[in-house]
Amino acid sequence: MEILQNLVHMTGQRDHLRLEVSVLSTLLKLPCVTHVRALELLPIDGQLWIRPRTWTENGQLVSTDIDFENDPQRHPLNHIPTMQSCLQHKQQRCQSHDPATNTYTLWLPVWMHEQVRICIEVRQQGKEFDAQELDVLLGIFQVYYNYQSLLDYSERDALTGLLNRKTFDDHLQRLTLEPGNSTCCCSEPGSPRQPWLAVLDIDHFKKVNDSYGHLFGDEVLILVSNLLRSCFGLQHQIFRFGGEEFVLLLAPMTQAQAERVLEGFRQTVEHYPFPQVGQVTISLGFAGTRRNSNTSPVQLLAQADEALYYAKENGRNQVCQYEQLEAQGLLGSKQTITHDAVELF
Ligand code: GH3
Ligand code: MG
Ligand code: MG
Repeated sequence: MEILQNLVHMTGQRDHLRLEVSVLSTLLKLPCVTHVRALELLPIDGQLWIRPRTWTENGQLVSTDIDFENDPQRHPLNHIPTMQSCLQHKQQRCQSHDPATNTYTLWLPVWMHEQVRICIEVRQQGKEFDAQELDVLLGIFQVYYNYQSLLDYSERDALTGLLNRKTFDDHLQRLTLEPGNSTCCCSEPGSPRQPWLAVLDIDHFKKVNDSYGHLFGDEVLILVSNLLRSCFGLQHQIFRFGGEEFVLLLAPMTQAQAERVLEGFRQTVEHYPFPQVGQVTISLGFAGTRRNSNTSPVQLLAQADEALYYAKENGRNQVCQYEQLEAQGLLGSKQTITHDAVELF
């Protein structure tokens, strides 16, 4: 009965982290489970890393709020060969036994879009999970997985599979309201690492539609989205904001790094051979999210937008930074772009 109540609670969650805490607390209720954790995986510089994201401490479930890259608990996935092999073979679960502590561990990777970002870890001391215990564990995991998929589906845009605008609004709110630990870790003096907000708009996209039709227009949107995914991977967040406009929330980095990755992406698009359409270019505007703690999410977006507007007005196919334009006094008589004008398809 208690498990059933936990499942009801679990499926009432509308947030991935709360859902995660809820499934772990449900699993902990099982007599056979002595220990649970949710492990987060992230590729950094071509290598998969892993860290605990939620675990038990003094009988309570706690989640970390440290950026993945700054987390001292992260380590390369190849330190856990059993799990690495499980993921390489796209398996649904794997188990291991540590003779030193006589602990049996079951790993349940959460496969989503052919990738694993979260893996649930369940442990039992002294004996292996038997068939009946496994049935119950896997049943609970399946309910969690199905619900996670539904949540994921509601957060994405149907055409491109990128995160949608509603999800962006939630993330931006969280990013600016909860500064977290990423705020002031300086890798070099005068060059603070911070998350960056970039707005990207395809140049003269209307012409693509007018010249080749909407199906080719859609194809361009899908290809740009794929390029975004392969260039920015899982470390950064990519949203389709509406129409041919995309937003990037870049993980903490210096201004020079942000400029480099965005400029690199601009060039990638410029040189990509789009079938039939040929060359497509993009303009980008970006702004730091920690420059002024009084800046609201809406103002922040308006700043990145102003930089984008400047890029559009001054030749397109370029990357402009709000802070630089402001310091140079180039933002005087701008007109703020309003997103309400987005044309819907
Ligand atoms: P600019 O360089 O100033 O950005 O010019 P633009 O032509 O790209 O900008 P504008 O905002 O005038 O046009 C955007 C067009 O994008 C308008 C609309 O026809 C098209 N569009 C919006 N959403 C979709 C979509 O989902 N599919 C397709 N094929 N076209 C879309
Ligand atoms: Mg455009
Ligand atoms: Mg536009």
